[in-house]
Amino acid sequence: MTHLVDGRTIAVTMATATAAAADVLRSDGIIPTLAVLVPTDDAGAAWYVRSIQRAAARTGIAYQVHRMGGPAGAEQIAGLLTELSLDPVVHGVVCQTPLPAGVDLPSVGSAIPPAKDVDGANPDSLGRLAAGLPGVFAPATAAAVLAILRHERVALSGRRAVVVGRSTVVGKPAALLLLAEHATVTIAHSRTQDLASVCREADVLVVAAGRSKLIGAEHVRPGAVVIDVGTSPTDSGGLAGDVDAAAVTGIAAVLTPVPGGVGPVTTAVLMQQTLQAAGR
Ligand code: NAP
Repeated sequence: MTHLVDGRTIAVTMATATAAAADVLRSDGIIPTLAVLVPTDDAGAAWYVRSIQRAAARTGIAYQVHRMGGPAGAEQIAGLLTELSLDPVVHGVVCQTPLPAGVDLPSVGSAIPPAKDVDGANPDSLGRLAAGLPGVFAPATAAAVLAILRHERVALSGRRAVVVGRSTVVGKPAALLLLAEHATVTIAHSRTQDLASVCREADVLVVAAGRSKLIGAEHVRPGAVVIDVGTSPTDSGGLAGDVDAAAVTGIAAVLTPVPGGVGPVTTAVLMQQTLQAAGR
């Protein structure tokens, strides 16, 4: 039997706690506020920004969305992120991806100081995470992976974790968070040889490659916990994960579906981290 994780229910539980804590801050005169900069008119980003907006409304977090007045380069984007970060009413700043061609997240994300970097875009935040320093925000998606494992009461200490993907926004921070929980962590990527046998070592398999059906039955050890971060658009306008869910059902003990797994928890984590930034 494979237990299918209900990310939407986990997100509701987290949002309820965030809303209660936001109420307390508001009664102290602090209005937790998240500012999101959207540098392009990408349709996927617009959809995600609307979902952040709904999550903010549900949790009592004030929300600002900022758009560039036209095509923007790294300097303008970093300038606006600096401006938002300096605003004392703003507690959390997010730079929504994708970025315009030629602009990379680490260079503009550096404009957000770690204290307000609630989606871990600043390479300093990743460095602090690697150094094990307290009070740092991991990218919300990586933190959502850990939130799901915690919610499902998955033991991590001493267990084998394999992360497929080594991006700075998902793979690397997820691996660091697993390491901080004392898992024995392997990071796999596009040059990994015999991916299936590497993945089969995992008690906990986290997949963030962005390749639909990359992971099949031959990648999963019986009884493994499988967290599917991947989201690829399908021809019918839906979303597909990196894991062939039908193939691993009955082999994995736990599986996150796509959609309805990591995605909703990511948004809930973003609200939680904004609240933490406001409470400091
Ligand atoms: P990314 O920057 O494109 O990184 C993909 C990683 O996967 C790379 O490290 C790449 O290896 C590796 N990879 C690609 N093909 C592979 C293969 N055949 N075998 C093994 N490894 C392979 O993507 P990302 O930003 O990390 O995002 C990963 C996925 O998560 C995407 O589908 C994205 O849409 C999704 N995502 C979901 C959420 C959410 O909230 N659910 C949030 C963010 C991202 P190399 O480094 O060697 O190229």
